[in-house]
Amino acid sequence: MEKIYDVIVVGGGIAGYSAALTLKNLKRDALWLGTDLFGEKLRAAEYVRNYPAVCGSGALFSARLEEQMNKEGVVLTRGRADAVYAGDPFTVTAGEKTYLGRSVILATGVSQTGAVKGEDAFLGRGVSYCAVCDGALYRGKVIAAVIASPKYAEEAEYLAGFAATVHAFCLYPDAAFSAGNIVVHPEKPLAVEGGMRVERLVLKEGTLDVAGVFFLRDAAPPAALVGGLQTEGAQVVTARDGSTNLPGLFAAGDVTGRPYQYAKAAGEGLAAAYSAHAYLAEKKA
Ligand SMILES: Cc1cc2nc3c(=O)[nH]c(=O)nc-3n(C[C@H](O)[C@H](O)[C@H](O)COP(=O)(O)OP(=O)(O)OC[C@H]3O[C@@H](n4cnc5c(N)ncnc54)[C@H](O)[C@@H]3O)c2cc1C
Repeated sequence: MEKIYDVIVVGGGIAGYSAALTLKNLKRDALWLGTDLFGEKLRAAEYVRNYPAVCGSGALFSARLEEQMNKEGVVLTRGRADAVYAGDPFTVTAGEKTYLGRSVILATGVSQTGAVKGEDAFLGRGVSYCAVCDGALYRGKVIAAVIASPKYAEEAEYLAGFAATVHAFCLYPDAAFSAGNIVVHPEKPLAVEGGMRVERLVLKEGTLDVAGVFFLRDAAPPAALVGGLQTEGAQVVTARDGSTNLPGLFAAGDVTGRPYQYAKAAGEGLAAAYSAHAYLAEKKA
């Protein structure tokens, strides 16, 4: 039988870490799943002057967290959650892997590159955030990929294995691909348009007909990750204890809205962990 965790924490930033650490202290069997340890936003900070007891760079902050994490026995499982299915238990898919948990804490942060007009409206109707999940749907078609960082170049190559042409809108310099059917555009599209489904992208000059658009970046909008989750734009709607409209699913950190700050994210991670702990205790009673 597949293992069922007490809690699955999705997101490797400070909010996710704080939740995972608190769950460890509460002796909960938790899986902490994230794309990278503590996240780029923490490592990138030049100087952190508003987090208690940290006087220095994000790199120093990150080193302190890693020291604590190792001492406390908290472990990050590397992976990117593609979907979270609410149920009893919850199912989290990450590429080829599937994880089960009685509760989930979403701590996926917010995208730095910002949404494109029309992106929300066409979710599930030609807009996708997961090449592995949806790439095969576009066999022989002309599609686009809006790519936030070189680490997603591999996913564009994967799409090129199905599509006739992949128009790659790369939001980083010096993009290069090996597949011959990838056309690089060094700009961000202005809008996604269509009827029942995606039909075209609006560019600075003219439009481009495409059957689908993949947004390849760290934080997919939470509504795309979790079906049925109540959101306002890119933010999960939560109560003060981190609970959402889906029983057993909690959220913490930037994904719940402003202020976008480490201390708020860490505090919410802790609160969400306590809430998940209480939820599980109540369910068992
Ligand atoms: C350059 C810079 C400097 C900053 N300086 C400061 C500062 O000095 N003080 C301050 O208080 N704040 C600062 N901030 C803001 C701060 O970085 C954020 O508020 C904080 O990182 C939020 O933490 P989080 O855990 O909610 O999200 P994030 O740090 O964004 O972490 C989320 C993590 O989850 C991962 N993830 C996303 N989707 C998935 C998925 N589907 N599956 C698995 N993992 C996923 C992401 O890759 C990321 O690693 C700064 C931000 C930037 C960009």
